[in-house]
Amino acid sequence: MAKISVIGSSSMDLVVTSTKRPGAGETVLGESFTTVPGGKGANQAVAAARLGADVTMIGRVGDDHFGQQILRNFEENHVRIGYVKPVTHMESGTAHIVLAEGDNSIVVVKAANNEVTPAYVEEALDAIRSSDIVLIQQEIPAETVVYVSEICAKYQIPFLLNPAPAREVEKSVIENATYITPNEHEAAIMFKNMSLQEALRKYPHKLFVTEGSNGVRFFDGEQEVVVPTYKVEAVDTTGAGDTFNAAFAVALADGKSLADSVKFANRAASLSVTKFGAQGGMPTRREVEEQL
Ligand code: ATP
Repeated sequence: MAKISVIGSSSMDLVVTSTKRPGAGETVLGESFTTVPGGKGANQAVAAARLGADVTMIGRVGDDHFGQQILRNFEENHVRIGYVKPVTHMESGTAHIVLAEGDNSIVVVKAANNEVTPAYVEEALDAIRSSDIVLIQQEIPAETVVYVSEICAKYQIPFLLNPAPAREVEKSVIENATYITPNEHEAAIMFKNMSLQEALRKYPHKLFVTEGSNGVRFFDGEQEVVVPTYKVEAVDTTGAGDTFNAAFAVALADGKSLADSVKFANRAASLSVTKFGAQGGMPTRREVEEQL
C-alpha cells in the first residue's frame, strides 16, 4: 500500500445559500446552512485514502467543536491523525461561503492552519521520511513549504507541490519539487516572468498544468502534450483539483508511469465533478479502476 504524507490545511466550510448576495451594510435572509469538512490539505488526504493509500495527515485544528468534527471525518475516511494536533486556545480554520446568484463568495480564516510551522512539521519527520511521496499545498505558512521541500530533497523523497491557492513560490521550492501541479491561473502567478510555454519547457516531466475540462498540459522532453480528461456531466467542480492531486500522488507512489498516473488522476478528478461537494464526490479506487 502506498504511503503518503499530506502536509496542509484542514478546515470547516460553513456554507450558506441565498437568492441574493448581501451588499455592504445589507442583511438578507438565506435559505440553507450546512457545515462540511474542507481545506485543501484535508481534501487531498481524504481523496488519497479513498483511493487506497496509507495516508498520514500533518496539520492542525483548533481546540473547538469544529476541530473534533474535522478529526472525526479523518477517522471515518481512514486517514492517520497522530500528527493533527489541536492548538490550545485557537479556533479551527474556517471558510465562510455564500452561494448566491450562481456564484460563490468566500472568506477564509486560517486560524490553526497558521500553526503548521516548520518546527511543528519537524515532529513528524519519521512519518515524512517513510513516505513514498509527500503532498503539500499553500494554505499553510510559506516557510513550511520551503522547509518541507528541503527535507524531501535531502532525503530524496518525491515531493508533489500543488501551488494552490495562487501565490509566488520560492525558486528553491520549484527546483526541489519533483512534481508541480498548478491550474492555469496559479501557473501564471508562479511563472510571471515567462510564458506558459517557456515554463513547461523549462520543467519537463515536472510541471503539470491542469486545465479543467480540457485535461492536463506538460512538456515531455520533446513536445508539449495535452492529456485530455474524461467527458462527464459536471455537477460541482469544487475539489476537482484536490482529487486530481491526490490521485496523481497515489498513482505515482504505486509506481505507475507518468502517463498512466496523469490518466488515473484525470479519471478520478472527472468522477469527482459528477457529485456535489468537495469530499462528497471523491471516488474510491474501485470506482476509478472500473472506468479507466
Ligand atoms: P478546483 O479549484 O475547482 O478544485 P482547479 O482549478 O484546481 O480545481 P482544474 O484545472 O479546474 O483544477 O481541474 C483539475 C482536474 O480536474 C482537471 O485537470 C481534470 O482532470 C478534472 N476536471 C475538472 N473539471 C472537469 C470537468 N468539467 N470534466 C472532467 N474533468 C474535469
